Amino acid sequence: MNTQTPIETRLEAFRERWSGKVGKMLIGGEWREAQSGETFSTEDPATGEKLADVASGGQADVDAAVAAARAAFEGPWSKVKPDERARLINKLADLIEANGEELALTETLDVGRPIQFSRMADVGGAIGQLRYQAGWATKIQGETNEISAPGEWLSYVLREPVGVVGQIVPWNFPLAMAAAKLGPALAAGCTVVLKPAEQTPLSTIRLGELALEAGIPEGVVNVVTGYGRTAGAMLASHMDVDKIAFTGSTQTGRAIIEASKTNFKRISLELGGKSPTFIFADADLKKAIPAAAMGIFFNAGQVCAAGSRLFVAEEVADQVLEGIAGMAKMLRVGHTLDPETIIGPLVSEQQLDRVTGYIESGRQEGATVLVGGGRKEGPGWFVEPTVLVDTEANMKVRREEIFGPVLCAHRFTDADDADRLARMGNETEFGLAASIWTRDISMAHKLARRLKAGSIRINGSGGVDPALPLGGYKSSGWGRENGKAGIDAYTELKAVSVALD
Ligand code: ADP
Repeated sequence: MNTQTPIETRLEAFRERWSGKVGKMLIGGEWREAQSGETFSTEDPATGEKLADVASGGQADVDAAVAAARAAFEGPWSKVKPDERARLINKLADLIEANGEELALTETLDVGRPIQFSRMADVGGAIGQLRYQAGWATKIQGETNEISAPGEWLSYVLREPVGVVGQIVPWNFPLAMAAAKLGPALAAGCTVVLKPAEQTPLSTIRLGELALEAGIPEGVVNVVTGYGRTAGAMLASHMDVDKIAFTGSTQTGRAIIEASKTNFKRISLELGGKSPTFIFADADLKKAIPAAAMGIFFNAGQVCAAGSRLFVAEEVADQVLEGIAGMAKMLRVGHTLDPETIIGPLVSEQQLDRVTGYIESGRQEGATVLVGGGRKEGPGWFVEPTVLVDTEANMKVRREEIFGPVLCAHRFTDADDADRLARMGNETEFGLAASIWTRDISMAHKLARRLKAGSIRINGSGGVDPALPLGGYKSSGWGRENGKAGIDAYTELKAVSVALD
């Protein structure tokens, strides 16, 4: 299938693959239903229609997957050389590319993402991640150290794979995030139990199939589908899991920390955000306005690094807000299979209620709805792109992560006071990302230094790049994914000292 294949043919192939079947779990190279026989269903958020039943993993399944991952880690996978690991990861990337249209459609139907973005963000993102991470497999280095103990010594530090890793993935970018977690784990020599979100399990099941097809040995990649409070929590508290890599809400991040205390697992957490965008009076507004709009409306705001707070200089505030409101009205909200659609639905009715609840709370606390503000009638979980103005720091909409297409705007004066602006930027518990739009090079860098945020963009927008560390300050997480920090997070250090005398 390619982009020329008619949509009906592609949908037919999708239905043939999934409907009336139970999506199984990949455990030790075999596809299995849950030992309890339980299942849950996944739906298309654009229509509310059921897509498939999927195995609901419980303790016995998690135990079996962890045992398979342990056996592979101690056994065959430990003998696989770095260049072969790199080759296998690259092969998986090739297979994702070869099956790109099918995977994009799967994401579109399961996540509710407009098809053009499933191609770009999910399929393109997964391929880019795997090819980048494959390169690390052959570049993992220890070090030698001179020590001060009497006598002659040879001391060196080994960097070893951390072991069996539980990877818990959210529903907003299931395939890209699974690939971003799988890539460095495999490159470092770890084995994995992947748990996709219960809302969006289908592409991860396909990823498991492709991992086997790529020749990745049985047990190295396991997929357990199920609910967070059961399968996810069981993985997080499991005594034989060495590390949990988690992306999701800050609240669940806290639960993971608690659960991981059982055996002092290593943990990486990529959590929520409430990221500020600053637009100064001297900014290139032709670029800043669409970037600020897409920074919050892309993926219906279901992006952890979404630019959900806008601080705009008083001198240009009317122009900027009108521009963003104009885009909010213009961006096509609609069916996800329509190639022109820019904004799809939220992932579930629960999220719809949550987001509309926040908009209502903003109104009650005194914010004004400049544009949007309601759900879109009809089937599916659609919310209108919304801009709230006159928002203040103490309002719930300004402090909490909404995870929907809702921008909270605030006008600022004293544009030369970097300390004051940074305090505004830093006023929430989060610290994931920030954007700055100004032609004043010194203000841009002053503000970048003062903001407590893991990723900062100046005069530009864009997504995740696997070469750059990704993660947050404060309640936005622990550790970094991607870049060198990302591969190091899948390793343990071991200091070895040899007395030569
Ligand atoms: P949201 O609340 O937006 O659905 P979550 O952080 O709950 O986001 O979900 C992200 C991932 O974490 C999903 O795979 C989900 O199943 C999983 N999860 C949810 N609760 C727990 C938990 N208590 N322990 C481990 N994983 C969990």
